[in-house]
Amino acid sequence: MARYDIEKVTCPSCGKVFPVKVYDRIDVKRDPKLKKKVIHGTMFAEHCPHCGEKIRMVYDAMYADPTYRITIALAATDEFYKQAVKEMEKENALRSAKDDIVRDYLNQATLRIVRDDMKLAEKVLIFDNDLDDRVIELLRLVHLTSQQATNPEVTDMLFNIGQTKDGHTQMCFLPMIGRDIVNTPIVLSNLNYSRTADKYYHALEEYKESELEVNRAWAEKFFAAIDARTAAEDNTEPV
Ligand SMILES: [Zn+2]
Repeated sequence: MARYDIEKVTCPSCGKVFPVKVYDRIDVKRDPKLKKKVIHGTMFAEHCPHCGEKIRMVYDAMYADPTYRITIALAATDEFYKQAVKEMEKENALRSAKDDIVRDYLNQATLRIVRDDMKLAEKVLIFDNDLDDRVIELLRLVHLTSQQATNPEVTDMLFNIGQTKDGHTQMCFLPMIGRDIVNTPIVLSNLNYSRTADKYYHALEEYKESELEVNRAWAEKFFAAIDARTAAEDNTEPV
């Protein structure tokens, strides 16, 4: 089984105490139903058995999907964050091992660090649908920037995969203010995704799998590097 402790939580609404399971390792190979709980946002939400109040409790945990060699640290605290960076960087350093077999084996692994449960849910959904989280992050930044041009109060875009009326899956971004979804979904077509993946294929290859934090800051850095390179190439062209 996945590893968990039973902890006592005091309900902020009625003040009564009730037990909750707190996982330090969410192993979805051993306990596959935990993956759905993470994706649906119920993993870190408890309902008080006394008054029904919904309580969000996010804590440090390691999400592991050994079948696909995916490890995601959910670092709710700075202490766990620092520890996860240290450990994952150590593992990343081994990717340049001399031995081909060792190197190939390590390069199949995906290591990520996220800071909240919503970002964890997104990563799991993305990897579960065989998508590249870096491509999603680039697309998100593009759509967020254009959304903010008309709605400056929008703070983020939540990635989701829904079902159309005829039963097809459909990727989309949901504009958000804080943790609330505020506008209608922005549909992300498969063509849009694959064009972005193709356009940046070589640049993304350079990063390989060494990036632990693939988030908005990562996407901003990536685009800035692409712009700098394009500007440098323009300057070397004869006038
Ligand atoms: Zn309560």
